[in-house]
This record gives sequence, C-alpha cells and structure tokens, in this order.
Amino acid sequence: IPIENYRIFSIVAHIDHGKSTLSDRLLEITGVITKEAKNEQVLDKLEVERSRGITIKAQNCSMLYKDKFLLQLIDTPGHVDFRDEVRRAVFAVDGAILLVDASKGVQAQTVANFKMAKESTVTLIPAINKIDLPNSEVDRVEKQIIQELGFEKNEIIKISSKTGLNIQEQLLPAIIESIPSPSGNTNGPFRGLLIDSWYDSYQGVILLIRVLDGFIKEGDKIVSGQTRKKYEVKKVGIMYPNETPTGTLTTGQVGYIIPGMKNVKDALLGDTLFHLGQESKAKLLPGFKETKPMVFVGAFPADGIDHKIIEDDINRLILNDRSVELHRETSNALGQGWRLGFLGSLHATVFKERLEKEYGSRLIICQPSVPYLIKYIDDKDQLIKNPSEFPNSTSRRTTRIKTIQEPYVEVLTSIPTEYVGCVIQLIENNRGEQKELNYLNTEDQAIIKYYLPLAELVDDFFGKLKSLTRGYATLDYDDAGYKDADVVKLELLVNGKSLDALSKVVHRSQVQKVGKEWVKNFREYLRSQLYEVVIQAKYDGKVIARETIKARKKDVLAKLHASDVSRRKKLLAKQKEGKKQLKSIGNIQIPQDAYQAFLRK
Ligand code: GDP
Ligand code: MG
Repeated sequence: IPIENYRIFSIVAHIDHGKSTLSDRLLEITGVITKEAKNEQVLDKLEVERSRGITIKAQNCSMLYKDKFLLQLIDTPGHVDFRDEVRRAVFAVDGAILLVDASKGVQAQTVANFKMAKESTVTLIPAINKIDLPNSEVDRVEKQIIQELGFEKNEIIKISSKTGLNIQEQLLPAIIESIPSPSGNTNGPFRGLLIDSWYDSYQGVILLIRVLDGFIKEGDKIVSGQTRKKYEVKKVGIMYPNETPTGTLTTGQVGYIIPGMKNVKDALLGDTLFHLGQESKAKLLPGFKETKPMVFVGAFPADGIDHKIIEDDINRLILNDRSVELHRETSNALGQGWRLGFLGSLHATVFKERLEKEYGSRLIICQPSVPYLIKYIDDKDQLIKNPSEFPNSTSRRTTRIKTIQEPYVEVLTSIPTEYVGCVIQLIENNRGEQKELNYLNTEDQAIIKYYLPLAELVDDFFGKLKSLTRGYATLDYDDAGYKDADVVKLELLVNGKSLDALSKVVHRSQVQKVGKEWVKNFREYLRSQLYEVVIQAKYDGKVIARETIKARKKDVLAKLHASDVSRRKKLLAKQKEGKKQLKSIGNIQIPQDAYQAFLRK
C-alpha cells in the first residue's frame, strides 16, 4: 500500500457520546473483528474500563479498508482527567472525528476537545452520532455545531455507531477524502514519534510509535532524542487489535516496538527516536508535556498484611499507568504505607476501585487531597502532598512562611438554561468564581466558565452538580495554577494523640463544620472501650469539637461477697491503676474497621 493511502486519525468526543462504539464499528467494517465478537468495546481492554464503560488508556488499531487503504486509529480516553492523553493523540494524528451525541448536543468536553484540536493542525470531521435514538434532535445539534464551532452544514456527517448507519456510506469516504495522508521522507534516516507506552508482563515495556521518516526493523539499534539512552529493537509490529508482528514499520505507519527498556519512566511521550549514530537534537513535540499528578491518596496495609507483598502488587498495577506517582509513607496510626498521586479525582477513584477489587480489604485507603504550595519569605517554595506534613500555626510563625497557595482549575460546564441560577449559586458556595456565561444560539443550553479550587472539585463537586441539574450538567476542566488560600490543617485526636493519616487541609470557613462532623462520625465507629476515650478535632492549637466515650465498667466486684470489704477495696484500687496506666500511654485500641468505615463515609 502506498503512503498516499495511509490515514492516521483519532476520535474525540464528550464522554458517552460513542467513541468506543464507533471504534468497534470501524473495526468490524474493516474485518479486524467479527460481528459475533462478544466483547463490546474491543479497545477498552482494562477490566475497569469495561465495568465502568469508560476508556482510560488510549488504544490504537490498524485497519485495512477496501484492500487499498491503511487506516490507523488512535482511540482516546473519554474522561477529563485524561485530557493530556487526548491532547497527545491530537498532536500525533493528521485528522480527528469530532463526535457529538444527537440527543445531548454540544457539551463541555466537545468545546474543550474542539479548542484542543485547534491548537494543532489536525483536520476535524464533525459527526453527529446516535441519530437512531427516538429522542435525537439532529437539526438542533447541527445548528449548534455550525454556530458554536463554525463548521459548514455540508461538512457534518450524521451517523449511528450502534446500527452502523452512514458509516460505510459517508464517514469512511470522508476520512479518506478530508484527512491528508502522512508526510515524511520515506528514504531518509529513521525518525519515530513516541506516542504511548505500556507494560506487558511477558514482553516488558512496549512503545507505540509513529514513523515520521525512514523505517525501523527488528534488530535495529535506536537512541532516544531526550534521554540519549540506547536500545536494541527486539520486536516490531502493528496493533490489530493486539500486538501483531510485522518485522518492520515504514514512514507513515503507526505500530509498536519492543526495545528492551527496563523502566516505563524512560519512555517520554513525545520523544523522538533515531537510529544509533543518526540522532540529532529534537525537541519534545508540542502538546507532549509530562503530566503531573494533582490528587493524592494515602494507602496502608490492613492488619496482618505484609507490606512488602502488597507493595509489589501496587507496583505491578502502576506499571501500566505511568501517570500514577508512588511514595512510601509512615503514619503513627496506620503504620507503613504509601502515598499515591493521580491525575484527577476520577483517576483516583478508578484506581482505588482497582485496588479494592484486586486487594479486597487488605488496604485502608484515605481521603484524596490536593497539593499545597508553601511560599517562604526567602523565596523558597515547597509543595506539600501529604496533609500531615502541612505546617500548623506555630510552625507557620517560626518558619517564615509568606503565603500558602492551593491549586485552581478553570472549569467549563454545560447546562440547560433553566439551571443557570442554581449552578452559579453552587459555584459560589464552593469558593468558585464565575468568569463567563454564554448561551448557545439555540438558547436552551448555556456554558459557564469559572475558576474553582481543585480541592472542591475533588470533594465531589461534579456529583453535587449532577444531582442539582438532574444529571444534565457536564464538565471539563484544565489546570489554572496556584492561588493564595486561607487554609488550615484540621487534626483528629484520640486521647490527645493526632491520627496523622486522617489529617486534612480545609478552608478556614469550613473548619468548624468539618471538625464537628468528624468527631461525631469517628465516635460511631469506636466500640466502647475499657477506659475513657476522648475524640477531638483541633486546628491552630484550638480544640473545636470534642466527644467522650465513657469507659465500659468491668464489674470486678460481681463475684465477691458484699462483706469482704478489704478485698473489695484492693480490687477497686487495682482496677483504677490499670485504667490510669492505659490512659497515660494513650494507647487505645482502634479497630481497623473503624478507620475503614470512617474513611468510607
Ligand atoms: P464513549 O464514552 O464515547 O466511549 O461512549 P461509548 O461508545 O461507551 O457509548 C456510550 C453509550 O452510548 C453506550 O451505551 C453505547 O451503546 C451508546 N451508543 C453509542 N453509539 C450509539 C448510537 O449510535 N446509537 C445509540 N442508540 N446508542 C449509542
Ligand atoms: Mg469509551
């Protein structure tokens, strides 16, 4: 097949608008999979992806169309937390299908994906999906696409990914006609763009590359433009839909290579690979910035679970999710554990779910938190990722802190106009700041742009937004940097001892409310103890809430004869001493399930 007949493209859309379904149809039409294939959404390989119906990892598949076209699809994850993967895909392809659900219309992520695509030179094909649905509003959605995104009426293709309507007739011809074939110097020295990487327990690190110039074959020695590390290529092939060896990849082809790389972290997405001895200086491609985790979660092994074994397990899980960060951490209450960093709150939830599914009750997982930036008077900065390391008020005074800042995000929310008032209220109640309010020209939808502290977004803002708008609101966000924040560390104390793993950084305006809830909740989960237990919430050196659990009286006298006075006195004294001892140690037995239950709440 000549390079003029290659196409490299991607599908972008708001979540649930049908990317994975459309990918399946394309794979079916081109004969990669059969209609009978039981597994819906073939490219969603991870179990959580199937069970949650969302795509987390970008996948790729090559297809042969009409025996003369090589179509190379890069699927993208649908959720906002993974926007950097979408951005990378958009910069690695020559064209993209922008999919819009005919019953929902232009949504927050549609606008965000459209803007992202505009930053690159990618050719966009707008397509309205789900036109088979009885409640589809094709005309209204078409109008939105023309007026909001500036497409021409005749560019818009109307399809059903479910039934396959118009995919063969209109969408595939449009892919061939409007998306340019890859450019590149077929005879030049090899240059490969590193698009993605994953880990296979049998084969090791696998790289997905797009050959920009020349070709690569098994046995070639290559070098990374960024790390300057050298590798010998063991295997080369295409994704069809799984790794299928071909031995070579030529200019304009997308496929995988297995370079015998030891560490996934050495695979820098956006890197350029060269043949050894032919390397030149290459910049990371635009759009390929390394993603930073923004949501952190503490995890600790439950009672009696071996720390080392579970650490190996977690490390294995992380091998295939390069965006997860892992540090060891020790807590006075929960012992040795880890702090895991994620891209966003859904990413954290999905990973938590995987841990829970795969490691059951063996882990105690703490509440997610965001990083805080401490700025010192001497211009030094410190990023705090663990709330228990957040300075309390006394250390704030002595360590010459200038300001404390928290991360903000710029959010796009799309809602039916009737909800504008209450959504603006919700934004304000969550310390947000409205920036823009636009009504779509069809006048029944509005898009609000606002700033929001990431901490509020992580604290189930989307859940509140959804329930307020009966499920209609959609949301997309991007980082908006750090801003000054009046936040304090709230600690939970049991008999005067701080349970560090439960510490939380909260805004001063919320500290009273959260503190009261905490002590009340924690009390519920502590069974009565042999001695008195005092639960307190504290910040800035002040106790703001307190609950006491009275000691359970052990009736040491029950078996004694009432007249045996001296013996009776002795026993009472002994019991008192025992209590005092335990109290002074402050060593109270907090059952693991108390933490579990408290944290789940
Ligand atoms: P993604 O999040 O963009 O990957 O969306 P999915 O492909 O997972 O689709 C979301 C839901 O919409 C699934 O329940 C699909 O079965 C359904 N769906 C996708 N395309 C169509 C379509 O053309 N017609 C109808 N009726 N349903 C569709
Ligand atoms: Mg999907």
